[in-house]
Amino acid sequence: MNEKVDYLIIGQGLAGSILAHTLLEKEKKVLVLDQPSLQHCSKVAAGICNPITGRNLVRTWKSKELFSFLNHFYPKLEQKFNQKFFFNIPVYRPFQNLEQQQDWSAHEDKVNEEVIYPKHRFLGQSVNDDFGGLLIKNGGYLRTDIFLETIKNYLIDKNAYQEELFDFDKLNTENNKISYKDIEARHIIFCRGAADKVNPFFEKLPLAPAKGEILHIELENSNQELVEKLNQIILNKGCWLVPFQNKENYLKDKVGKTSTTLFRTGSNYDHKDLTLKPTEKAKQQIETKLKSVLSLDYQIKKQEVGIRPATRTRKPLIGTHNTLKQIHIFNGFGAKGSSMIPYFAHQFVEYLLNHGELEREVRIDKWFLK
Ligand SMILES: Cc1cc2nc3c(=O)[nH]c(=O)nc-3n(C[C@H](O)[C@H](O)[C@H](O)COP(=O)(O)OP(=O)(O)OC[C@H]3O[C@@H](n4cnc5c(N)ncnc54)[C@H](O)[C@@H]3O)c2cc1C
Repeated sequence: MNEKVDYLIIGQGLAGSILAHTLLEKEKKVLVLDQPSLQHCSKVAAGICNPITGRNLVRTWKSKELFSFLNHFYPKLEQKFNQKFFFNIPVYRPFQNLEQQQDWSAHEDKVNEEVIYPKHRFLGQSVNDDFGGLLIKNGGYLRTDIFLETIKNYLIDKNAYQEELFDFDKLNTENNKISYKDIEARHIIFCRGAADKVNPFFEKLPLAPAKGEILHIELENSNQELVEKLNQIILNKGCWLVPFQNKENYLKDKVGKTSTTLFRTGSNYDHKDLTLKPTEKAKQQIETKLKSVLSLDYQIKKQEVGIRPATRTRKPLIGTHNTLKQIHIFNGFGAKGSSMIPYFAHQFVEYLLNHGELEREVRIDKWFLK
């Protein structure tokens, strides 16, 4: 017998997961198809949510809306699933030089709700922050692996998940109906991340995938006080350093109570080499940046690769096919999936269910005219 669903979602990265959860909360019947053995950049991501970025230390696009949304969204899900995965710790951003420190002081008042301006170097001699830096509140990091596993279990529980390699040749879109093998759906939504660069329905969209690599490291514990302080912040100067508690500690409920010497650091951008092979070049780039900010020995435990669904416009790509009104895409979250996806999943679901407006910058209609 055919299975009938309202929304067939392809991909269970952060985009597919959060969208599926949002639709299920609206009591829609959802089925997510995912092939976990494919590249899956959500799983390797550091999950950092940082409202102030770039050389000029400015607010990221729509940061007020995104951050007030995510600061409710993730804690609400933690409560619902009785699982810790969002860590609301500040980003510490040392100034690169005196000029940057002075430039910042000139426009400090514009963003000060999000920022504490530390008066002293508070990490000690092993961290290169001669000019002080900004302690940026309001963000944090998402343990994406724990989050994705939690949502996958929830979907399985709701009969809303199937491990499956989606094949376009088996999709039928005739007579305004979607059918895929024995599944009938009112709508199909593509959340395949960088894989949607090749999608016959959305060929003109400006997806520009970018490879990124990340190192798992273990810091030597000779300076325990510093390691403990590094557990309380995300260090961000040229590269970032994020605590990465052992998964076992989640099960034993030790997270947040004990500090760890395990961290992740990265990353780099490569638009040419889109293979999943770790490279010596990226490793060296990351290590050079790390060593310029932190003088502490470490051992590399692992190197991982992901392909970000970046776009030429640096904005997400959300909306409906120009003629096939039951085919949609929710993609293009680039390097900022963990901060952008909760807000835009909410906006997209309002658009799908209640004729809500999609933000002008993310709408895909303009790309069909080109
Ligand atoms: C090294 C690195 C560090 C990062 N750090 C951060 C960070 O600190 N903060 C942040 O916000 N973002 C970060 N990102 C970016 C973040 O990972 C992305 O924004 C986000 O994960 C995109 O999610 P997605 O669901 O769109 O794509 P993906 O996670 O790639 O998910 C796509 C899913 O589709 C599935 N799929 C594809 N094709 C098929 C098919 N034919 N059949 C079935 N399933 C299919 C895949 O298996 C996968 O599960 C980082 C990325 C990298 C690579």
